[in-house]
Amino acid sequence: MKLIFEKSKAGRGCDILPSCDVPVVELDDNLKRQKELRLPEMSETDISRHYTELMKRTFGVNDGFYPLGSCTMKYNPKINDEIAKLPGFSNIHPLQSISTVQGCLEVMKKAEEYLCEITGMDGISFQPAAGAHGEFTGLLLIRAYHQARKDEKRNKIIVPDSAHGTNPASAAMAGFTVINIASTKDGYVDLEELKKVVGEDTAGFMLTNPNTMGLFDKNILEITEIIHKAGGLNYYDGANLNAIMGIARPGDMGFDVVHLNLHKTFSTPHGGGGPGSGPVGCKENLIKFLPLPRVEEEDGVYKLILEKEESIGRVKGFYGNFLIVVRALTYILTLGGNGLKYASENAVLNANYMMHKLKDIYKMSFPGPCMHEFVMTIEDLKKEKGVTALDIAKALLDYGIHPPTMYFPLNVHEALMLEPTETESKETLDEVVEIFKKVYEEAMSNPQSLHQSPKKTPIGRPDEVTAARNPVLRYHF
Ligand SMILES: *Cc1c(COP(=O)(O)O)cnc(C)c1O
Repeated sequence: MKLIFEKSKAGRGCDILPSCDVPVVELDDNLKRQKELRLPEMSETDISRHYTELMKRTFGVNDGFYPLGSCTMKYNPKINDEIAKLPGFSNIHPLQSISTVQGCLEVMKKAEEYLCEITGMDGISFQPAAGAHGEFTGLLLIRAYHQARKDEKRNKIIVPDSAHGTNPASAAMAGFTVINIASTKDGYVDLEELKKVVGEDTAGFMLTNPNTMGLFDKNILEITEIIHKAGGLNYYDGANLNAIMGIARPGDMGFDVVHLNLHKTFSTPHGGGGPGSGPVGCKENLIKFLPLPRVEEEDGVYKLILEKEESIGRVKGFYGNFLIVVRALTYILTLGGNGLKYASENAVLNANYMMHKLKDIYKMSFPGPCMHEFVMTIEDLKKEKGVTALDIAKALLDYGIHPPTMYFPLNVHEALMLEPTETESKETLDEVVEIFKKVYEEAMSNPQSLHQSPKKTPIGRPDEVTAARNPVLRYHF
């Protein structure tokens, strides 16, 4: 396919601009562009075809099954976008007088209240723009808490090896030393290991629960108590809350800080680089450290708290990605409490259904039952037939489905991690199971052929090393 610049023909164009309705101001020469702006010159027909051609090459939830584990690529109801598009939400400016945006502040306050109820937290900030950003912010809260108590020797964050990869990275970015602990062979936190590493320098503990193996840690109350007794705080990575929403609450499990991925669980389209939202919630004793501004209500009037001495400050401009909060609130209100619970039940049911259907041919890394996702290992196929997790993932592309997450979690060899999500029907799951079976049969009967997959996509196997080491990210004229 040609690039848009290669399709450009000098002199061609389709710009129809309205006449200027503001006074024309002559700019100083030093403010003016010195060279012509190099924009592609095309007719509207050709632009339209160009983008349609590109669109056909992308793959999204609207195209087909997308079981990218840990990413929750579920269907996002269109009503969320309809509501977020309303001019009262989309045509506002962050600096306009707050008396004119009372409804928007109410959205933030209501969303905060509902999400507090869902997580068992007491306060939430919507500033963080993504999950990892929420983790970073939450860890700064933990640091602020210890500093305020003059307990500054607490510089270690304990992270089990089943954590999402962002957890240790965020802890290191927030200035902590990361203590990794190995999981038990069943995939849970090893209590003996945990007891060995806690101490006077423990700032906190970060848990992804359900963890990246899709397992819920049954010892959770004991785990959080061990940390509390040692003087540390507990951080809950709630990016995948669709496993427990409406059923269990991090706040009741002994967690002090939690982040959510509104762009996963609370149904905002993601994966295409669009904005996300990783709100961070905390218990009462940490609220004073939350980033500002925060919305408060008094006698039906909403106001913004801009200054507070103990706040960790701002982690993003203004109020975070507000329209994502609008989508999340729409989602919460359309589903209602029981609906949210039902969504979680289906997320878990769908994952267990697929796991059960596949477990006779694909080896599961843990026997289950699982939560919202499960992990298979292709280790045996690799030994027997030389077929890798990558080969299986590539072969699936020819059947029109997106591959699962590969080679993650790191503690499972040749891992494929599947998250079917709650929005897939039984019929789709059955079809996909058949596809996985076909690919397995092909791996057994003709392993060579799988090394050449995919055969039907516009691009087969890109040279991933070159793409990673020498990416060409801009067009050179
Ligand atoms: C996706 C995810 C994150 C990171 O979220 P981003 O929005 O991509 O920064 C963190 N933890 C878990 C468990 C996740 O699934």
